[in-house]
Amino acid sequence: MTEARDRLSSPAAPYGSRRMSSARRAIAETAALMDGAFTAESLHDRVVASRPGIGLATVYRAVAAMADAGYLARVGERDGAALYAVCGHDGHHHHAVCERCGAVTPVECAFVPSALPAGFAMTRHEVAIYGVCAECQGSERGGSR
Ligand SMILES: [Zn+2]
Ligand SMILES: [Zn+2]
Ligand SMILES: [Zn+2]
Repeated sequence: MTEARDRLSSPAAPYGSRRMSSARRAIAETAALMDGAFTAESLHDRVVASRPGIGLATVYRAVAAMADAGYLARVGERDGAALYAVCGHDGHHHHAVCERCGAVTPVECAFVPSALPAGFAMTRHEVAIYGVCAECQGSERGGSR
């Protein structure tokens, strides 16, 4: 139904067909280096380490544009701030976010349309899944003797 947007999620075009300034290129490159989920603010922290001149508002706008183009997926939220991740997984899916390390794993949609009220025409839905990934659980066990 809304598959068109998924086709845009090519890592080569983080902003879709929009022109990419050098600041936006740096922001996109940094986003690709982020380990799992990040907020616009944590991305900004990382960006200014190499490009001190780039402001937070610029990063916010770039993140919104990359999410629009399908390059970034909104995978949940932390302390009221949207969490994003670079996700190349195609088609409709959701994300499991590790609250320890931020690792993001694509999850197949298990939503059952029959759960909707009679006559309700769903246009979209969002699911955010939070937890602790297997790796973090493993290091927890390894750490306690
Ligand atoms: Zn995804
Ligand atoms: Zn983890
Ligand atoms: Zn779904």
